[in-house]
Amino acid sequence: MRTPVTIIGAGLGGLTLARVLHVHGIPATVHEAEPSPTARSQGGMLDIHDDTGQPALRAAGLIDEFRGLVLEGHQATRVLGPDGTVLLDEPDDGTGGRPEVQRGELRQLLLDSLPAGTVRWGRKATGARALGDGRHEVTFADGGTVVTSLLVGADGAWSKVRPLLTDAVPEYVGTAFIETYLFDSDIRHPASAKAVGGGSMSAPVPGKGIQAHRESGGTLHTYVALTASQEWLAGIDFTDPAAAAARIAEEFDGWAPELTALITDGETAPVPRPLHALPNGHRWDRVPGVTLLGDAAHLMRPSGEGANLAMLDGAELGRAIAAHPDDTEAALTAYEQAMFPRSAEAADDADRIHEFCFGADTPHSLINLLTGHEQVH
Ligand SMILES: Cc1cc2nc3c(=O)[nH]c(=O)nc-3n(C[C@H](O)[C@H](O)[C@H](O)COP(=O)(O)OP(=O)(O)OC[C@H]3O[C@@H](n4cnc5c(N)ncnc54)[C@H](O)[C@@H]3O)c2cc1C
Repeated sequence: MRTPVTIIGAGLGGLTLARVLHVHGIPATVHEAEPSPTARSQGGMLDIHDDTGQPALRAAGLIDEFRGLVLEGHQATRVLGPDGTVLLDEPDDGTGGRPEVQRGELRQLLLDSLPAGTVRWGRKATGARALGDGRHEVTFADGGTVVTSLLVGADGAWSKVRPLLTDAVPEYVGTAFIETYLFDSDIRHPASAKAVGGGSMSAPVPGKGIQAHRESGGTLHTYVALTASQEWLAGIDFTDPAAAAARIAEEFDGWAPELTALITDGETAPVPRPLHALPNGHRWDRVPGVTLLGDAAHLMRPSGEGANLAMLDGAELGRAIAAHPDDTEAALTAYEQAMFPRSAEAADDADRIHEFCFGADTPHSLINLLTGHEQVH
């Protein structure tokens, strides 16, 4: 086969693609902006779904290694009222189809499965241009360039490859998450640890909520969700962590202290994450020699599916390239024809899940969703 497949971005999607290509004996190079695998905390738990992330790992030949990373008991789910009343408490009985792993460990598993030198660290793409005949040149912040006959943008929400295919840009969806961490919670924050329980906890009211997840080592990882303008968010001084936490906690005045402590007792500076999305159903006309996967292709509201979809895209694209070794366009067409409707449906589901979580009928709508009385598709 021709030149190595050039992948921009070593997130879960780009690495799954590189790995599946490797399994099929197809060389790939991954250019990653970060200077090293440990440059940024990959914090957070991911539940890996049996219809998306798990088949991707199977295609990557890593399902057994993945099983070794699963944190038992973390599929437990709770819904609490603002006063701390437990409204739903579903323990992890081991039968759920969504085992939880640490994102950083999953990424490392993929990295370790690639031939040495596959990932080029510190290679931040700044732009890409078409050279004709399906070839593209990518430029990097370090002054380097690469020319390739098969370019894949796996570079996330703010993809530098996407403009080759579409003018679409992510827009703010009107919701911001604010991220906080409490460490060693059973000892240091027992009331909050008890409120969160063994897995994930949501305490929503219409338009806002506190959601937390127990990670390994008793870490409580919280995403506070607020319906807010970007101007409102910009008015909070996040360089002053205590004042920022106090300002966010004000939005939950009168809530149970074990819930607001997830904000005010945060042991890292609170991080604002304004949520953006591409238009639902975003697609493009086939452009020879280039495609996108994961958030670069279909950034959507968080619904617990984005990383899973990125991995499935990577696996499916890898398989399509392997199935059409002498016909890149046939491979990219097959991949995109399946990916477009899959991600459009997932984006619609993500909007519905948001409505169940934070719409007018929450927490009842969320409880109905979690107990299977409401379904998104
Ligand atoms: C708050 C929040 C919570 C979430 N929770 C979940 C969850 O529980 N479960 C789930 O499945 N999904 C979740 N998601 C979604 C999930 O994180 C993303 O959908 C997923 O990470 C997308 O994977 P990706 O490989 O496409 O992109 P990314 O993970 O964003 O990876 C892109 C990679 O490209 C690199 N890169 C970026 N720009 C460049 C450049 N110019 N040049 C070179 N490299 C570049 C980045 O450094 C990164 O390594 C959540 C998202 C948010 C915002």
